[in-house]
Amino acid sequence: MGVIDEVKQRTDIVDVVGEYVSLVKAGRTFRGLCPFHTEKHPSFFVYPEQQSWHCFGACNTGGDVFSFIMKKQGIDFGEGLRLLAQRAGVTISSRFEPEAQGREKERLYQVNQAAAQYFHNLLLNSPAGEKARNYVASRGLSPKTVTDFELGFSLNSWQALKEHLLERGYTEDELLTAGLIVEAEAGERHDRFRNKLMFPIHDARGRITGFGARVLDDSLPKYLNSPQTPVFDKSSSLYGINLAAAAIRQQDLAVIMEGYTDVITAHQNGFNNVVASMGTSVTEKQVGALKRLTRNIVLALDADEAGEEAMLRGVGYENTLEVEVKVIILPEGKDPDEVIKQDTKIWQHLVEEALPVVDYTFNMVTAELDLTTARGKSSAVDRLLPIIAEIKDVVRQAHYLQKLAHLVKVSEHTLEAVLSRIRPSQGRRRVKQPEAVPQALHPVLSSPVEEYCLSLLLQHPELKGNYQGLLPEYFENSENRESFIAWQKASDLSSLKEELDTAIWEHVDSLLTRSLPSNQVEQKYADCVLRLREKFLRSLEAKREAILALEREQGGTVAELAKLEEQGIEVSVQLGEAEVERNSLLKKAGRERWQRR
Ligand SMILES: [Zn+2]
Repeated sequence: MGVIDEVKQRTDIVDVVGEYVSLVKAGRTFRGLCPFHTEKHPSFFVYPEQQSWHCFGACNTGGDVFSFIMKKQGIDFGEGLRLLAQRAGVTISSRFEPEAQGREKERLYQVNQAAAQYFHNLLLNSPAGEKARNYVASRGLSPKTVTDFELGFSLNSWQALKEHLLERGYTEDELLTAGLIVEAEAGERHDRFRNKLMFPIHDARGRITGFGARVLDDSLPKYLNSPQTPVFDKSSSLYGINLAAAAIRQQDLAVIMEGYTDVITAHQNGFNNVVASMGTSVTEKQVGALKRLTRNIVLALDADEAGEEAMLRGVGYENTLEVEVKVIILPEGKDPDEVIKQDTKIWQHLVEEALPVVDYTFNMVTAELDLTTARGKSSAVDRLLPIIAEIKDVVRQAHYLQKLAHLVKVSEHTLEAVLSRIRPSQGRRRVKQPEAVPQALHPVLSSPVEEYCLSLLLQHPELKGNYQGLLPEYFENSENRESFIAWQKASDLSSLKEELDTAIWEHVDSLLTRSLPSNQVEQKYADCVLRLREKFLRSLEAKREAILALEREQGGTVAELAKLEEQGIEVSVQLGEAEVERNSLLKKAGRERWQRR
């Protein structure tokens, strides 16, 4: 299988889009506010079954997961593919990652390192860095800690870092790719991080992949991170991993906190097996990355974020990643940072007493219920049994079933009967399982018509003179769409490959070597274009119909309905035209066959 298909197989468009758009399940689709245009009424839809998306609003366009990420990040197909590959844990072999890209990454690590040194020096020595030094001192961070974590300070300037790095031979494009500068509307480029305390983020190999930055006053947002880059992916990064890896392996235990300063304080006080989740809830990729070092993970959660959802995620990780997750609930309103500073023994005790995530969930659920009443019992069973159903390990499952039976004073036998009625997937649906779950592979939806049509074009240069009617958007698969766009621009095969990212070469090669009929090529091509067009229109129509039904059901506004109806009319007119054209083509083909006889 090619690398493109492998990425598709391991990527769920709902998860990817969900990172940018808040999606709500609506029937067999998910809907949300379009990230590409401003709207109040959500007209952006994601289709898990087709692994595609469509905006029925101002954009009126759609595509697959690649086109979404390309459009959202403003990157080309190759960059999008690499981003999604990294996210899905698919390695793009060196064949598809030419030396140039390896070198590019190396340059990004270097430029990040140069920036970190610059920031670090400013924090230690510049007059402007004084308030940052005061802040660091007020947090009780020692000079050794500041050095170990390479903390820094960015000047309150739009150009300082940019000029510093340009002088050192880095290009503006490199700075832009590394996320160190940003491009404003007018095309003018300036420093991303200004007047902030800087936290370089390292990977496990000690390379700097990106930065976290904190304001030095009460302004918002409090934190700013590097954007996604070829070397930085927030959802798989763990702050402090470069300094914590050895201790995690040695103690066979990793503690995940939320904030940069929590981790720094922990290390300064000798708790070296601690990392941070980059200020978001812990992701599966982060847990997956730790798995190489230990299977025992402790989540240090704020009292207010230790909700049922966080617990369910913990249970999910236990099952999918086969790690053991324990939970520390911090005293109300306190960060690990504060607890540790107050008394390291209290922290030590919290870690030792961390509760297995399922036990913790039991406590949390039952604390709110009166288990002497029938209603309380049934509510406890309703909420806990689906979690028990999720547990893969049969011994552990039996253990918790016993525990629940004991709690609600109902026989295990009765609960087992209920448990057997819960399909595991039913429970699983409640567990948020984002990102690359190795077991959950998505079907690769290839399109024979798209590929047949492209093969004809690629193998028959004579079609170049007359390929009207074929539009890039008829291709739903991004690799086909990209190949078609490149084919339009290119004059021959080698210039075609130049237009395309190397990752698609393999795909193009397979289209070039496909065996095709050699007679009546033009007619076959014309027929193919019509079929593609019909497929495109029908798919649009089906999506629109589904949404229309949904809108009616949910009492959509008259204006919205009217707009969708209008789009529908236009599509059906075009479908009608396509049919007429197709019929005349068939007649023509028949006539020619008859004439040749
Ligand atoms: Zn839109």
